[in-house]
Amino acid sequence: MANDRVLIFDTTLRDGEQVPGASLTKSEKLEIAKQLEKLNVDIIEAGFPISSPGDMESVKEISKTLKKPVIAGLCRAVKKDIDACALALKPAKKPRIHVFIGTSPQHVKFITRTTDEEVLRRAVEAVKYARKFCDDVEFSAMDATRTGFDYLCRIVEETIKAGAVTIDLPDSVGYTTPEEYGALMRNIMNKVPNINKAVIAVHCHNDLGMATANSLSAVMNGARQIECTINGLGERAGNASLEEVVMALKTRKDFYGLDTGIKTEEIYKASKMVSRLTGMPVQPNKAIVGANAFAHASGIHQDAILKNETTFGIMTPQSIGIPGHELVLTSRSGRHALAHRLEELGYKTGEAEMTNVIYPKFLEIADKKKEVFDDDLITMMTGQGKKGKDSFHLESIYSATGSSIIPTTTVELSKAGQKYVAAATGDGPVDATYKAINEIVKADLILIDYQIKSVTKGEGAQGEVTIRTKKGDVELTARGISTDIIEASAKAYLNALGKFENMKGKK
Ligand code: MN
Repeated sequence: MANDRVLIFDTTLRDGEQVPGASLTKSEKLEIAKQLEKLNVDIIEAGFPISSPGDMESVKEISKTLKKPVIAGLCRAVKKDIDACALALKPAKKPRIHVFIGTSPQHVKFITRTTDEEVLRRAVEAVKYARKFCDDVEFSAMDATRTGFDYLCRIVEETIKAGAVTIDLPDSVGYTTPEEYGALMRNIMNKVPNINKAVIAVHCHNDLGMATANSLSAVMNGARQIECTINGLGERAGNASLEEVVMALKTRKDFYGLDTGIKTEEIYKASKMVSRLTGMPVQPNKAIVGANAFAHASGIHQDAILKNETTFGIMTPQSIGIPGHELVLTSRSGRHALAHRLEELGYKTGEAEMTNVIYPKFLEIADKKKEVFDDDLITMMTGQGKKGKDSFHLESIYSATGSSIIPTTTVELSKAGQKYVAAATGDGPVDATYKAINEIVKADLILIDYQIKSVTKGEGAQGEVTIRTKKGDVELTARGISTDIIEASAKAYLNALGKFENMKGKK
């Protein structure tokens, strides 16, 4: 590999998915993994197999399906974790076992409750054990930035000797600064004698807003793998965001002189997909993928940009895959036009699927909305999941509300061919709807948060309801989309029920 190539290691499905409420089902993870493959990331960290049966299954499924990227699974430096990881990665064409242990005094003392020597011994043993299953082993010295330098050098040298081919020095707590982190990389390169036998990786968190800057400083000083997530999703303030590090290296290649293999035109779609499936919105002023990232508000700026794009634009929206022109479809648009536009938006559809499922669904939306925009199509395709036989589906809903009546909702649900009807009153139409559904499903979910937003344009724009719910001690986020907000609310609730059903057996 040329020395100016930076590997992109995406951990959206592991560190990103750890965020409370962002849990994903197996099919949602697979959908994101496929998009990450289109983005051409080098390594996908697909999960933490020992942590739950659900994670185990997802890593297996992703390993089975994807052929191009390396598929990594995370494990603590213990045998049973590594065994589980090896099992989950068995179908993978290019598996990687990623072993970690905390090396800072804080972690050694309070988490492992042992000595530096014992941590070193466990790290070496775990790497050796992992190498029995696969040649591609990564070792992470968790909390490396708060670890003593001499001790860190010993750990790195010994784990490379034990067979690790990638050494990650994570800033797990988001504590370091660009200058300090760059110096750490430089010093490790100079001090550890066998360092040329491994790729140095960095994994930065954004607690002080420096995750991107720290990652870039590291690659300027010899690191060649950046661990990051779509939209910067991740523990606490999140991880370094993939789109930021990638577009910084691309836009300022004159400065960094480094390349990634990322197809940047797939970034926008990946961002939208991750936001929608995790229920984690992207702030409008977020770099690269925020709604305002390419919007020019000031009159002077607008005037300038119309004269020449380079006056205030350093990147083009097209370079991250924001469609340059928008084609508006209507109920008069044919199957061919629809298939063509969907393909431009990155969706390949089979003829039978188009005739039997997608086109009828499109007509339904077109009848309600008159004009169908790109966002409507993306929303429609995202909701294109297979219907589980064992879950409830909304057949119809009738809701009456007003200033002088008690809000009342009647719902009709179906499950495995059977129909159920119930009605209830409530404080408002949404409350009445949820009570009516509960009459049938009898699965009392606790509603923690309820948000509604318009996700598309035009009259009759589609509303998306995102709810955060809790059952026992599991929290999750679910969504429902419709041109009718009560219907969207009902769909979100049923989506949550389906997810809880899917997660049965998951920790
Ligand atoms: Mn992390």
